[in-house]
Amino acid sequence: MKPLALFGGTFDPVHLGHLSVAWEAAELLDAEVRLLPASIPPHRQPPIASTAQRVAILRAALQGQSRLSLDTRELEREGPSFTVDTLTGLRAEQGARPLVLLIGADAFAHLASWDRWRVLFEVAHIGVLSRPGVSSTLPPELEDAVSGRRVATADALRDCPAGKVIELAVTPLEISATRIRELLAAGRDPRYLMPAGVFDDPALLAPYRR
Ligand code: ATP
Repeated sequence: MKPLALFGGTFDPVHLGHLSVAWEAAELLDAEVRLLPASIPPHRQPPIASTAQRVAILRAALQGQSRLSLDTRELEREGPSFTVDTLTGLRAEQGARPLVLLIGADAFAHLASWDRWRVLFEVAHIGVLSRPGVSSTLPPELEDAVSGRRVATADALRDCPAGKVIELAVTPLEISATRIRELLAAGRDPRYLMPAGVFDDPALLAPYRR
C-alpha cells in the first residue's frame, strides 16, 4: 500500500512553492499526498483569508491533476488544530499504513515547540522538505530526538508505519505566502508564482488586495 503523506500549512494563500514540493514529495515517496489546511494554527497569526476563502483557492489550485488532494478535517473540527491529534485520528483510520508528515525545513526546525511533539514520531514518519535559506542545523533537543531515526531511502518508510525521518531534496523554490501577500497588497500580479487556476476568478484573491 502506498504511504499516505500529509502536508499541513496555513496556505494563506497556497503557492507554487507548496505545490511543487508536495508534488516532488509524492514522486520521491511514491505516496498519496494530501494538503491539510489548518484552522487556527497554534503557532501563527490568524490568516488574512477566511477558512472558506483559503479552501476555495486550494480547490482552484488543485484542479486538473489527481496526484495531490485536499483534506479539510482540521477545518471541520472545533478549536485549534494540533497536528498530533490529526495524525492520531488518521492512524486510527488507516491501520498500519505508513503515514508521513511533510514539513518544510523552516517549520521542522521549530518542531520541539509543537504540542506533544515527541508523540508525532509514534504516529507518523516525518519528511523534511528542503527550503532555500534554511540551515539544516537543528536545536540540540530536536537533533537528539531525530538522530537515530534518520533514513536515506523512501523504501525504509514502507517497513514500518511511523518513527523515521527522511530528508527530501526537493527543487528549491524561494516562494513564500508572505511574499505573495505583499505583492497582492501592493497591487501586483504574482501570476507565475501561483497556479494559473487561481487567476480565473478575480474574487479568489480579493482578500489579499487592499
Ligand atoms: P508564510 O510566508 O505565511 O509563513 P509559507 O509560504 O511558509 O507561509 P505555510 O502555509 O506557512 O506557507 O507553509 C506550509 C508548509 O509549507 C510549511 O511546512 C512550510 O515550511 C512549507 N513551505 C512553504 N513554502 C515552501 C517552499 N517554497 N519550499 C519548501 N517548503 C515550503
